Amino acid sequence: MSFLINCPNCGDRGFIEFGFGGEAQSRPAPDASDESWTSYVYRKGNHQGMQTEWWYHRFGCRLWFLVNRNTKTNEVVETAWPKLKDGKPAPAWKGK
Ligand SMILES: [Zn+2]
Repeated sequence: MSFLINCPNCGDRGFIEFGFGGEAQSRPAPDASDESWTSYVYRKGNHQGMQTEWWYHRFGCRLWFLVNRNTKTNEVVETAWPKLKDGKPAPAWKGK
C-alpha cells in the first residue's frame, strides 16, 4: 500500500509522512446530548468509498488539513484547509 497525499502547504508527499486523524464529522453543540457526544467521539462510519478525513503532515509542515479519499482504493481526490462555519479559512492548526 502506497499513495501520495497533496499537502496544501508542501505538495505531493508519500502517505508515510502523514498521520491519520480520523473521519471528519460535524462537532455537536456544547449543550448537545450525551448520546450525540458519545456518537461523535466513539462511533465511526468506517465507510468503503469516498470519505472526508483529517490528516496531519507529521514529517513536514506539521499542519492539519482535510483529505477526500477513497478508502477502498486510497485514491486521494482532493485536499483542502478546513473552513469555519461562515466559509472563511480556519486558522492554521499545528500538531505536536
Ligand atoms: Zn505539509
